Amino acid sequence: MSERFYVNLPLCPGPFTLDGPEAHHLATVCRLRPGDQVCLFNGNGQQYPARVTGVARREISLEITVAEAPERELAFTLEVAAPMPKGDRSQFLIEKLTELGATCFVPLKCQFSNSHPRESKRDKLERYVIEASKQCGRNVLMKIDDIADWQAYCGRGNPGELRILAHPSATQGATAMTGGQSTRIAVGPEGGFTDEELSLALSHGWQTLSLGPRILRVETAAIVLTALRLALT
Ligand code: SAH
Repeated sequence: MSERFYVNLPLCPGPFTLDGPEAHHLATVCRLRPGDQVCLFNGNGQQYPARVTGVARREISLEITVAEAPERELAFTLEVAAPMPKGDRSQFLIEKLTELGATCFVPLKCQFSNSHPRESKRDKLERYVIEASKQCGRNVLMKIDDIADWQAYCGRGNPGELRILAHPSATQGATAMTGGQSTRIAVGPEGGFTDEELSLALSHGWQTLSLGPRILRVETAAIVLTALRLALT
């Protein structure tokens, strides 16, 4: 597969010129040369194979040959809500959820959340999404939502959807998940959900699920639950 580049611009077959810092990056860091084949995407669901036709210091000319729409998205909406883990673990979480095809990630604020504003910075998280999409071939970017308070978040959406909350002391395991196609997954903070947060979730139709007898990190629980949900389709 040709090297993939994200471009935040409208794309279509024909000549295309890229300038500014992106062109500089492609020319000097990625060392693109005339004749190189690349693949552009802008998050609209399509990808655009292209040939480099000219490289200047601040401008790259390309010929986009075709618009393709390979099917790489899930057949249903999958939203994952979790408190941002600290440091590199937040990058790992966003990268893996992007690879697994999640539609949207919601940074969650719970009663026991420690707030890590740096970890939740949207532009940083969006960069992780783009990097993972380049690598995994996704042409639709996983959406990064605003930070949401659990109290407000857990009542969102439509009642027919599947709502799964990871909870270590739940009695049912993941294979018991039942409900609509469209799914929300929620994981609590390192301090866990409070009893009050749990009963609010139950009153809004969330099912609690255990992932086994060991306590998992937030990102492990979110990734495992996402993978289990994918296995059910
Ligand atoms: N001391 C907390 C553990 C929090 S771990 C407690 O007892 O609840 C952080 C989050 O990861 C939890 O809120 C839960 O959503 C998820 N999680 C961790 N281990 C899990 C397990 N074994 N089963 C289900 N969810 C788990």
